[in-house]
Amino acid sequence: MASGCLRPRRGRQVIADDPATPSRRLIGWRANLQMSATDDNTLSSRLADTVERLDALIGQEAVSEDYVRFRIGLAKAQTSVREALAQRESSTVAADAGPTRTSPALTRGAIQWNRALLASLFEDVCALVVRSGNQTAGLAGLQEAAEEDAGLFEELAEVSAFGDEQSLQELSNRVGTAADVLLFVGRVLAAPFVADAAHRRREVVAPVAASRESSGHCPVCGSPPALARLRQDDRKRILCCLLCEEKWAFARVQCPFCANDDQSTMGLVTVTGVEAWWIEVCDKCKRYIKTVDEGKLSEIEDVLPLVEDTATLYLDLIAQREGYARDVLDVICEGS
Ligand SMILES: [Zn+2]
Ligand SMILES: [Zn+2]
Repeated sequence: MASGCLRPRRGRQVIADDPATPSRRLIGWRANLQMSATDDNTLSSRLADTVERLDALIGQEAVSEDYVRFRIGLAKAQTSVREALAQRESSTVAADAGPTRTSPALTRGAIQWNRALLASLFEDVCALVVRSGNQTAGLAGLQEAAEEDAGLFEELAEVSAFGDEQSLQELSNRVGTAADVLLFVGRVLAAPFVADAAHRRREVVAPVAASRESSGHCPVCGSPPALARLRQDDRKRILCCLLCEEKWAFARVQCPFCANDDQSTMGLVTVTGVEAWWIEVCDKCKRYIKTVDEGKLSEIEDVLPLVEDTATLYLDLIAQREGYARDVLDVICEGS
């Protein structure tokens, strides 16, 4: 991480609703809300856009080249799975998990996993981890366990996307891989499936986001949000799910993880010289969410959550140094 210019300032600034700022421009990412990945062309053009924008981060002080290349590799591998799923006649949504308006829309048992695609994505993840010079011991153990248990990757994806801490810990004890490694890999494996299922479900069920402003978790897959944005035109706080790519409006002054709305236990961590981004922290659950103010972005184009999340890795490091935890670290394909 860059040091000198990135000095965090911890503050108890009041998080207040901003007065509406009229927009003269249509914001790119907002337009994306209506965009869906219906075919290979859409998926591949989105991938090309993502890779181009991630490539542009290489050489920047605040994020390491290895990390950017890792995210590019994952985006490519996950998009390949999305493309394979998009071509399939059979749905990723289990037949008995029919459309429902109850929340969350996708729950345990709702996804039809594909063993071959999961195994191939896992191989890609292992290769990328090796290339980025990271520890692979946990992954080797996982590979060995998968050779003994053909359904392991399905179980891992299921538990990581929809499970609880206890079932993840039980899996960790069984395969001998640390729970946080399992959770990260499991969500990488699960993301293209959950995104595809969410896309298929959106085609038959009206969007649920508008009626779920009270929930901090994703109305489609139940995941905690990874990023928040202050929308430029109406200043609404929009939360982004990096597992299924859903975006939904949420109360401006409330922790999305524990529903805490006591302002005396919430704060901002800002970084000197960084206007558009900051970290919102909750002292009740000790979690944080990175937040971008679209009104302060110098250039608003087709803003992609994966790119922004990668570009602001330094904010995660600052938040963690300040004693706050990220709920889950998701790595997604930008497919819809
Ligand atoms: Zn989601
Ligand atoms: Zn909280």
